[in-house]
Amino acid sequence: MRYPKLFSVTITLLIYFSLPLSAAGKSKTNTNSSEASKPSYELPQPAKETLDLTMYQQIRIEGLTHSHVMEYASALMDGIGPRLTGSPNVKHANEWTRDQLAAMGCTNAHLEDWGEFGMGWQQLNTWTRMASPDTAVFITQAAPWSPSSNGTISGQAIWMDVKKEEDLEKYKGKLAGKVVLLGDMRDVKPVDKPLFEREDEKDLAKIVEHPLSPEPEYFTPEFMKRLELRQKVAAFLASEHALAVIVPSREGRNNGGSGGTIFVDSSGGLGWFSYQREHIQPVPVVIAAIENYGRVYRLLKANVPVTIELNVDVKFTGDHEHGFDTIAEIPGTDPKLKDEVVMLGGHLDSWAAATGATDNGAGTVVAMEVMRILNTLKVKPRRTIRIGLWTGEEQGEFGSLNYVKQHFGFVPLSTAPDQVKLPEWLRKPAGPLVLKPDQQKISGYFNVDNGTGKILGVYLQENVAEAPIFAQWIEPLKDLGVTAISARDTEGTDHESFDAVGIPGFQFIQDKLDYATRTHHSNMDTYERLQPGDLAQAATVEAIFVYNTAMRDQMLPRKPLPHPELEEQRKAPLKKVMPGAVEVEEKEPKENK
Ligand SMILES: [Zn+2]
Repeated sequence: MRYPKLFSVTITLLIYFSLPLSAAGKSKTNTNSSEASKPSYELPQPAKETLDLTMYQQIRIEGLTHSHVMEYASALMDGIGPRLTGSPNVKHANEWTRDQLAAMGCTNAHLEDWGEFGMGWQQLNTWTRMASPDTAVFITQAAPWSPSSNGTISGQAIWMDVKKEEDLEKYKGKLAGKVVLLGDMRDVKPVDKPLFEREDEKDLAKIVEHPLSPEPEYFTPEFMKRLELRQKVAAFLASEHALAVIVPSREGRNNGGSGGTIFVDSSGGLGWFSYQREHIQPVPVVIAAIENYGRVYRLLKANVPVTIELNVDVKFTGDHEHGFDTIAEIPGTDPKLKDEVVMLGGHLDSWAAATGATDNGAGTVVAMEVMRILNTLKVKPRRTIRIGLWTGEEQGEFGSLNYVKQHFGFVPLSTAPDQVKLPEWLRKPAGPLVLKPDQQKISGYFNVDNGTGKILGVYLQENVAEAPIFAQWIEPLKDLGVTAISARDTEGTDHESFDAVGIPGFQFIQDKLDYATRTHHSNMDTYERLQPGDLAQAATVEAIFVYNTAMRDQMLPRKPLPHPELEEQRKAPLKKVMPGAVEVEEKEPKENK
């Protein structure tokens, strides 16, 4: 595995070092040599985009009326199944996508090792039932990387509510041989709003309008404290010899976390790093439908003894599994531009409770369909078009982050003691950026990872210089519903890895449908949730974006290069602003917020 990695890096370097020589040679004959040596994204952009409307038309016909996106979808979701990073299935998916991309005519289809991930894990079967005072069959699934129960286990249920570490004290000596219900029962509200909705004009206007005050952060210090507490609870459960843990499924938007839908991801398990052997959850953990949890909870509250039987049958397939990205290309044909690339992609990995159809089978098959459309039309792009299907996204965007690190550059992270213990994707960037030569050779990256909904527009990630360009591109796509350009920064998926090192990285605005209500990380994220018309539209629109990026004279404009190392200084209050203020010497350096 190391050999191909080293090999590809060497090739990249060779290509790079052979290029500037010829470019420099040319610039001598050019009267404006300083302009010619600049990467084209630094030059003034043309006011008018040259659009190949014949190609628009051909892509629309191939994408909308000859779509094959659902065939890829069924093969990936039904044929391969859940794709938890590190699992045998995700390896199968890497190989299948590589082979399909090669078969449709892509060149250089291969896998790239992004490094060691952790444990390989497969859920073979999970069942949970109440055995007394009545019998009942529960809807449950194992939390990812839960250990096996090694056969059927049976135990008295006990409810445990831990809001802070001190709460553990009162459960000392009480958990041995017990099945622990962990966490408060939540309100189960009626589903009185639709679970499936399209964005209306008002919703879209809201997305387009730029927020003037900072948006609330999801991963607050409180969230991190809860994460830490979960790990302490896990250690306590092990030391007290609890048998197993049942966690209630969290809620979804519009009260979608009921009625048979359960959400099964790291938020239900006993710690963020449970995929690493040294952080393995010490007892089997299942996530249960809220209604099932509720019945046991109420019985226990009423002092009725409850016996639970369960069987968590899982298989660990290795402790040091590596992660891989699937990469393939349509080579550029313009002698001057073919070493520049435009990338598209999405993450191939999923959680394991269903087949990861909307998260992110959808983005994967859309990107594959884009490559199929462009191959079928035998396009001759000026720049190279490269697809990247990432893994390890769900645990921290590892696949794209490491791909970017290996090819384009990286952002050193804070090494402050409180930061080191966080998952990497939550750590503060410290900078300064470390860049590789190829960072100047990538025009842009386009990502689809907000479910199965059609593309309504694009988030600029605050790269507002892009607005007039994309506005012209989407003008002929209005009838497909593509109208919105939002300057907003959107978070939580792989375009961030590119954006972080100064490469224009974009996530499309997609119709919301039932993503947040029902499908995202749930046991209901299956082929049935995919909307064929929406996916065909998304592939058509993305193909046009990618094609335009590959064909225009210049690379897409960039934001100023991020300088995380200067952030603190830039945000520091101005000095000597207040008239009459007396200068006070600061004794202690101010604490970091
Ligand atoms: Zn996703």
